[in-house]
Amino acid sequence: MNDGQVAIVTGGSRGIGKAISLELASSGRRVAIVYKSNRDRALETLKEIESLGGEGDIFQADVTKWTDIEEVVKRVLTKWGRIDILINNAGITKDKLLFKMDEEDWDEVLDTDLKGAFICTRLIARHMIKNGEGRIVNIASVIGEIGNIGQSNYSAAKAGLIGFTKACAKELSRWNITVNAVAPGYIDTEMTSILDESIKKEYLSRIPLGRFGKAEEVAKLVLFLVSKDASYITGQVINIDGGLVM
Ligand code: NDP
Repeated sequence: MNDGQVAIVTGGSRGIGKAISLELASSGRRVAIVYKSNRDRALETLKEIESLGGEGDIFQADVTKWTDIEEVVKRVLTKWGRIDILINNAGITKDKLLFKMDEEDWDEVLDTDLKGAFICTRLIARHMIKNGEGRIVNIASVIGEIGNIGQSNYSAAKAGLIGFTKACAKELSRWNITVNAVAPGYIDTEMTSILDESIKKEYLSRIPLGRFGKAEEVAKLVLFLVSKDASYITGQVINIDGGLVM
């Protein structure tokens, strides 16, 4: 199934990335789970993949570091010999109002959520060329489209990721590599579990479908975008947000 394709999922150990890793493995892809610090969570995800009869491995790496990602690429190619799919999912938030946000909060979020995708794409896309096709999906956010109070860093990073997606789609199309962005609204993960109850209630009141999304729902969309059925879709931003932005 899926010709033994190999996928790299950054931040694949938990939350949305974990759901994506599980979907890709269930559909027959071999999955490289990239995580930064929580090895136990990465191992848990790998065990789940194996219990489903899938194949994967875990790779500790910081997406902001060139040498870390070079090492991942080397190890993945040694192990499986090819790379077909890249999911740029690793992301963090460091929310503060503009006048309280210091340079470190800004840099950390921009480095992880935007520069990380640049580093991974730059180092990994070239290995898709010899396969005659490739798929890259960037996990952006509706916040990159509409902005949010307390998230000037995150809004800028995700808006940047959307621009990056379109530029890469144009550049890489000559090698039949598609590049798309998925922009989730509020999804139930550890990233959103830290929000105040009052804030969650306020967000819920603005979502037409009346609930937060599930990581598995985002993963199904990603699964479609990496499939052969999505071969004529590139440079698009697809919102998955219960109708929050329309
Ligand atoms: P989580 O906080 O649940 O998971 C984050 C993942 O990213 C973890 O696997 C973490 O690894 C990894 N990670 C963080 N920093 C780095 C780094 N520097 N290098 C490598 N890996 C790193 O996040 P979510 O699942 O909620 O979010 C996933 C993506 O979806 C993010 O890009 C986020 O912005 C986006 N998104 C999320 C929404 C939501 O409502 N949850 C809404 C819209 C977009 P470790 O645990 O080892 O640190």
